[in-house]
Amino acid sequence: MPLNTLLPTTLLRDADGRPLAQRVSLRNILIRAKLSLVILSHTLTLVALLAWQYGSARSDLVTSLRAEANLIASQLAPAVSSGDATAAARALQAFDHLPAVIAAAAYSTDGALLTQYGRAAGAVPQPLPPGQPLAYALDSITLQQPLAGGSGLLLVKTSLRPVYDRVLWFAMAASLIMAASFALAWMLSAGLRRRLYRVEQGLRHLANYDALTGLPNRVLFRRHLKRALASAAGEGGSVAVMFVDLDNFKIINDTLGHEVGDRLLREVGRRLARLAGRNARLGRLGGDEFGIVLANTDREAAARLAERTLQALTRPLQLMDQQVYIGASIGISLYPDDGADASTLLKHADAAMYQAKENGKNSFQFFSADLHFKALQHFTFEMSLRRALERGELALYYQPQVEVETRRIVGVEALLRWKSAEFGTFSSGDFIAIAEQSGLINQLGAWAIETACRQARAWVDAGLDGLTVSVNLSVRQLHTCDIVHLVRQTLEKTGLDPRLLELEITETVLMKHNAEVMDKLKALTELGVRLAIDDFGTGYSSLAYLRRLPVHRLKIDKSFVRDSHFTPDDAAIAAAIIAMARKLGIEVTAEGVENEEQLNLLKQAGCHLVQGYYFGSPLPPDELETLIRRLRASPAPATVQ
Ligand code: C2E
Ligand code: CA
Repeated sequence: MPLNTLLPTTLLRDADGRPLAQRVSLRNILIRAKLSLVILSHTLTLVALLAWQYGSARSDLVTSLRAEANLIASQLAPAVSSGDATAAARALQAFDHLPAVIAAAAYSTDGALLTQYGRAAGAVPQPLPPGQPLAYALDSITLQQPLAGGSGLLLVKTSLRPVYDRVLWFAMAASLIMAASFALAWMLSAGLRRRLYRVEQGLRHLANYDALTGLPNRVLFRRHLKRALASAAGEGGSVAVMFVDLDNFKIINDTLGHEVGDRLLREVGRRLARLAGRNARLGRLGGDEFGIVLANTDREAAARLAERTLQALTRPLQLMDQQVYIGASIGISLYPDDGADASTLLKHADAAMYQAKENGKNSFQFFSADLHFKALQHFTFEMSLRRALERGELALYYQPQVEVETRRIVGVEALLRWKSAEFGTFSSGDFIAIAEQSGLINQLGAWAIETACRQARAWVDAGLDGLTVSVNLSVRQLHTCDIVHLVRQTLEKTGLDPRLLELEITETVLMKHNAEVMDKLKALTELGVRLAIDDFGTGYSSLAYLRRLPVHRLKIDKSFVRDSHFTPDDAAIAAAIIAMARKLGIEVTAEGVENEEQLNLLKQAGCHLVQGYYFGSPLPPDELETLIRRLRASPAPATVQ
């Protein structure tokens, strides 16, 4: 069902913000005005034609009357000159066959009436002034015909009725034809107009509404916001701008497919439309971003709507045969406190939304000036990170991985470090999340893989054989880049034995059961590369994947190691993981080992490798090489320190 049908008709507006219904009636008025103009011009044409018809009919009448009068005058002349009234009366009888002639009269030269002819009694045409052959009245024409030899005058009065009859018939026929042609044209154009109207409506809709959800798009949403701001400025009211961004939509889209993603967005649009009251205007601002403009509001009302929105969006969605859980992060900015124009308010709502995401997602956050500063910092930080690669500010540090039994360094984990000229030195924990959000992780990750492989190969060449190098992979790299191709190419380029490369992925990657990712991981192990599950124990994932995937190593998260010598539960979890892994033939590395007690507990549990500050923090490659050489040269197995 298109969403339009769910929205109140008052929400359906044209590009200029007027309700569509108002636009339609305006259009009708315009069509009627045009129609009236056409009818008026047709009527004027008809009147002109009738005038022309009247003129030509009257001149036809005069011509035929003249011809007839001429004929009769020639017969009348001898009778008039001889003063024979009887002969003259007989001559005038010839008008009998002209039904339009009302009366006629013959006058002698001295102006005396000799005889008369008339259909109606009493109407004797009087002689006209000399030189005037015709006299017109509304209903008749009088013709004066001098008789041959100047013997007298013949006057004939004829009715105009035949002229009016002819004009009337013409008028009726012309009106009929005109009405018929007009009706035909109207019918033809009405169909065309209807189709044009629909096309126009469709185009207008496309330009202003989002095709997937039926909600106003970014352009129309901005216009609504501007209008709300203009009226709030006039009335001294407040407007809230809410930026709603779905949490984890990208993962759902990538793992469950675009069709599920589209359905999800439509359902979110529907839920938002149901929530928004009369004061609210909705819009889809981008992929998984929605906007709400709330007019005549205050902070509390905006917070209430944000809360209701979060509740509505966290209810599970049934999409095809999947039950999907999604949350949202909402940023809110308020007019006039947080900005005076649409762009500033949108920017600030966006910044607040990012803050909500950072605060742990599925929450809302009002904009604050402090937040603005943070957003600015975040932005410059990200820009600077973008340039870090080309400026050569990135480095890989290597943390030793030590075999518990022999206390020998058998591997290293490559960890990114950023020595920023502007901001100082950062551990990966400080910037990896930003690199992931901005998509930069693909470039950084590719650089890390190549640098680590090159370094490992250099150590092999320098005689430090058997040293495995572990490189971290992020979820995003697995989803958005051809990681198999990248790793294969890097191994070929650097000439590193694939068995010396270990790739670490977090448990969360496996929680999504994405077939494509699973295939990629399998393809990686087929290259001969080893696979380690990082931060193991924190992801609540099903352990079934341990049987399906060729996993070589589990890395127990440092949170279980940190307090293991104080908290029996943590020690028990670490011991259980080690026991399970050993049964499955998987090696175990414990992370974050900082003291001898932790090491002893892990040793008792049968842990293979340990990694942590107790054996060495991440070091630059040359320092690590010196350390390994020193340890290998020392006769007794010893701790690194
Ligand atoms: P991780 O894979 O869990 O890395 C171990 C982190 O624990 C490192 O922090 C390391 O410095 C720290 N650590 C090592 N020993 C100890 C210890 O004894 N105690 C404590 N408390 N911490 C210890 P770092 O370098 O800040 O890395 C953070 C995360 O950044 C890493 O977590 C990893 O997931 C990610 N990362 C690092 N380098 C890369 C990379 O090249 N690519 C990707 N995608 N992610 C990376
Ligand atoms: Ca790691």
